[in-house]
This record gives sequence, structure tokens and C-alpha cells, in this order.
Amino acid sequence: MDKQIKYILTDIEGTTSSIHFVYEVLFPYFREHLNDLTKHAHINEVKQAFADVIDMAAREEGKHLTTTEEVLACLKQWSEEDRKVTPLKTVQGVIWKSGYESAQITGHVYEDVPTALNQWRALGLKIGVFSSGSVAAQKLLFRYSDFGDLSGHFSNHFDTTTGPKKEVDTYHKISQLLGLAPEQILFLSDITDELSAAAQAGLQTIQLVRPGTSANWPSTAQHFLDI
Ligand SMILES: [Mg+2]
Repeated sequence: MDKQIKYILTDIEGTTSSIHFVYEVLFPYFREHLNDLTKHAHINEVKQAFADVIDMAAREEGKHLTTTEEVLACLKQWSEEDRKVTPLKTVQGVIWKSGYESAQITGHVYEDVPTALNQWRALGLKIGVFSSGSVAAQKLLFRYSDFGDLSGHFSNHFDTTTGPKKEVDTYHKISQLLGLAPEQILFLSDITDELSAAAQAGLQTIQLVRPGTSANWPSTAQHFLDI
């Protein structure tokens, strides 16, 4: 292994886990259980999310939502449009949490992932996640994974509140937050634009080529995966 690398920063969708899991399991589960939010309406974060939906719908779409049914219909539409907005992410987190806790869903991870996580940690490496899914959603996926609770492997979680995944500055920021030189961090992703931004910030990179990914990135540390 490369002695320089001290930290592995990994993407989730298309890297540790199947993109299909998100689009064919998590998103449909949310839409099917959307009405359950009325049971959670007393929770402060749900109340706040509903208020934010009403504000955003008025500001951005000129819609005036007055009933809970209208708020839920709006959330359903935003989910179908795959809008990356905070109130939607918040309520998705609430619904998914109850789905995971009741074992109706388990987080997909590819079967080589638990072994790799164990090996890397045995080598003294730290591991973190950088995904566009919220930190809460990341934690749930690994806590209730197909291979049991993998959450203890991760030292840090980053989402797009740190910065966009395709911008160089985001990776500078992450290396500063971790207190590491960029070249001590190995970033794993399936997406060329993300790998390119990380490489421009000085991180080492490997493209994960899962089913459906086309291999189109010159990884700088491919040998690392042969440990
Ligand atoms: Mg990805």
C-alpha cells in the first residue's frame, strides 16, 4: 500500500452502494410512506420542514399551500423531480429512519465493501464519507446495511453543506477540516467530474467501476485496492 495515504474519503452512490438502491428503493419508499409524516407532525424538525416547504413553494413557484395534504403533495412532486432541497431531505430522513428501524429497508453495500473497510482500518487508516445524501441518511444506510452495522468504521461524514462535489474548493476545505495534506487523502468515486475536482485539489483518486459505470478516469493509486 501507499504509505502516504492516511485517510480514505468515499462516495456512496455508485461507489460503496448501488445507484439503483437510491432510485428504486429509497425514493419509492419515501413516496409510499409520505402520508406517515402526519404521524410525525409534532416533531420540531418536521414542523420546520413543513413551514419551509410553504415558504419555498410561495417564493419559487407562486403556490400558496394551506393544508397538510397540499404540503405532502408538493413534497411528493419535489421527490419525483429529485429536487435537492433541505426540507425534502429532512422529511426523507424521518421516513427512511422509521423504514430502517423497522427493518423494512436495509442499506445496500457491495459485498467487497465490509472486507475493505475492515482491512483499511486494520492498517490504521481512517475512513470518511462524502456524499450528496444528507449526513443523517449516510449514517442510516451504513448503520442498517445489508451486512449489519458498518457505521463504526467512519470517522467523519460530509455532505453538500461542506460544498458541491464537483468543486475543487470543497476538497481543499475537507482536507483542512481533517487536518491532513491533500495527498494524504484518497478519494473514491464513480464520477469523473468529482474525481477531477479532488485531483485538482491534490487528493489521490481511484475511480470505482461498478455495474453501469464506464471506466474513464486515470486513477493515481489503483494499486491501493490490491492490498
Ligand atoms: Mg457516486
